Amino acid sequence: MEMKFEPVLGVPKKHIIIAGPCSAESEEQVMTVARELAAKGGVDLFRAGIWKPRTRPNSFEGVGVVGLPWMKRVKEETGLRTTTEVAKRDHVFEALKYGIDVLWLGARTTVNPFAVQEVADALKGVDIPVLIKNPINPDLKLWIGAIERIYQAGISRVGVIHRGFAYHGQTKYRNVPRWQIPIELKRQFPDLPIICDNSHICGRRDILFDVAQKSLDLNFDGLMTEIHPDPDSAWSDAKQQITPKNYLEMLATFSYPTATVEDKSVVESLDHLRNEIDEIDDDLLNLLGRRMKISEQIGTYKKENNIAILQTNRWDEILNRAIEKGKLKGLSDGFVESILKAIHQESINHQENVMRG
Ligand code: PEP
Ligand code: MN
Repeated sequence: MEMKFEPVLGVPKKHIIIAGPCSAESEEQVMTVARELAAKGGVDLFRAGIWKPRTRPNSFEGVGVVGLPWMKRVKEETGLRTTTEVAKRDHVFEALKYGIDVLWLGARTTVNPFAVQEVADALKGVDIPVLIKNPINPDLKLWIGAIERIYQAGISRVGVIHRGFAYHGQTKYRNVPRWQIPIELKRQFPDLPIICDNSHICGRRDILFDVAQKSLDLNFDGLMTEIHPDPDSAWSDAKQQITPKNYLEMLATFSYPTATVEDKSVVESLDHLRNEIDEIDDDLLNLLGRRMKISEQIGTYKKENNIAILQTNRWDEILNRAIEKGKLKGLSDGFVESILKAIHQESINHQENVMRG
């Protein structure tokens, strides 16, 4: 569906910087963070969760409407515009009543088209920017669906927030970034600003900087980061929050690549490198095509001799050999394994086709 987006902040700005506590806990906590952030400049939107979607009941579920006047006070006293998460029609009405400037949909809302539609319906006829977090699962269509539902409600100041994806298994992230998904979204919708929520990707403090810098290097359009005056005692997401002081230092340390490269020689060498990448990708595809043809020959042979497709030992051997070789080339085990698995699956499919055919 054709969508034309307007700037989230009303005027174009390269990076949209959003910061504030995971949850609003008290008026004092909210005001302390807001004052410190506002004093230094550079922050566009003050975030705080008023309604919190928690994994288990009986955890802190947000202060609710009593926190909304605190957000109003933030705006009046510091001039910072405010944003909060909405998941139901009542959230929308209450947030609007208290002059919240920007709304966002959380990851647990984007996964649910009923909930997204309820928020979209509540937004009909309202002119407010809306940011849409990715769904918890790595489903780009679901993310796009939520964007379309909000857009169809008449909201054109739309942005998205990349907060990583749930992962079953060990990783250093709380939510793995799978950068290729937001990059594909950007490819399909070049005008849609993408903000990196480094806090929810990382779930911990020590890698917040690197993830945020990486998103800037990937030409993301902003950052959302959780800030708390006393992070360890935060009522939600304590492990990932940082103090305003640490945050402001971090903001000042990032290198912000400019979107368009002006220097002609730089552009030319970039073009050259890109061409080289295209050629390598062509080579990779040719090689993969060749590999599949050989798999098909093996399939024919297995069929004639009545041998099972999957030979576990052989697969182990292929994988281990590739991981060792990959190491020598500076490729991570995880990368080699996932690429080999995909190739192996494709080979099996080709063999199956031959054996059935
Ligand atoms: C949040 O921003 O505090 C939050 C609940 O995030 P997410 O929806 O990304 O889990
Ligand atoms: Mn949080």
